[in-house]
Amino acid sequence: MKKSCISLMLCIALICFGGCGKGKSEDWTGSSVWNSGFSMCMMDEGVLYNSRGEDGKLFFYDYETGTSMPLCARANCEHTSNDCMAVSLFSRVDFIGRLGDRWYYHTTGDSQYEGTFYQCDLNGENEKPIGDFPYTSGTTGDTVSVFYEHYCVTVGEDLSFDEKTEEWEGVASGIYRFDLKNGKTEALTEEKEYARPAYAVYGLWENSLIYSEWNGEKRMIKRMDLDTKKQEVLLEDNDVLTGKLQGQTLLCSVEDGLIVLDLETGKKEEVETNGVAVDCFWDDQLKTFIIYGEEPETDENGYTIYPARIYQYLDGGDVHLLKSDYEDFVFPFARVEDTLIGRTVRSGKPEPITQEDFLKVLP
Ligand SMILES: [Zn+2]
Repeated sequence: MKKSCISLMLCIALICFGGCGKGKSEDWTGSSVWNSGFSMCMMDEGVLYNSRGEDGKLFFYDYETGTSMPLCARANCEHTSNDCMAVSLFSRVDFIGRLGDRWYYHTTGDSQYEGTFYQCDLNGENEKPIGDFPYTSGTTGDTVSVFYEHYCVTVGEDLSFDEKTEEWEGVASGIYRFDLKNGKTEALTEEKEYARPAYAVYGLWENSLIYSEWNGEKRMIKRMDLDTKKQEVLLEDNDVLTGKLQGQTLLCSVEDGLIVLDLETGKKEEVETNGVAVDCFWDDQLKTFIIYGEEPETDENGYTIYPARIYQYLDGGDVHLLKSDYEDFVFPFARVEDTLIGRTVRSGKPEPITQEDFLKVLP
């Protein structure tokens, strides 16, 4: 009895070691979105963000605990030198995302690392190159890089210069899908060259990529089935200035207002505004956006300024002014049950705020 028990345990141990010896199977669960404009990677569990200033480093803000930790595993690390992953990645990363138990990222800026995808563990250990991706990420303020399944979809740009005069000629851009398993790049769109970048990616909705494309006259909104690569135009009547996808809602700033497009139902609403929507937070409970450049004002030094204003959209097409100055304001980017998680405008640091506090209107 005793003997058979030991051999059974030995057997279990051998199976376990045998399984472990072949290497942990790769975990690709979840998805994440890198937002270039705010230098943040959003995922279900929290957000990875760049702290600004002299001591720049990457922090992970955990929604469950409400705390921020530097992306570093070294014991007693002061997070001040380039030996620390939180500091080193801050200076090297072009865009970063998380899938399962790893970070995947593209680096530029240092010739040694230029144009390469890497991966590392969640605590920054075991950095490994995956493959070359010889483009810089999209430079329009509203474009994102999406990490899903075992891919990263992003806009790749390449500045072109005249060979003889070395004068800048324009920017070639396309939407690319990088396979994080085999290190290969696939072009999802044709490459276009104009004076301005031709593409911006807004995110995934179901199995489709939602993005904008400049057709030489205006920026239109398109959708691409990621299996068949079939493209469909969603909005072509307006020149889209900025776009943001949140759940099934796409918000586009156009010349004379805001277009709210429900991707599920196809319903399109127009909201009249002056100025450009630079950010928004839109869910079932809260429909709010920041407008920049509405009416110029003169500050105390006599300079012309364009203040930012925060509005709430009320059903029926009305908008309600919440704040006219957001200097030290927290603007939400996520909701965790009843708590909103926002970004302070000056430091970019994530902070929780109750909906009630956020909605406190102008005196
Ligand atoms: Zn460190």
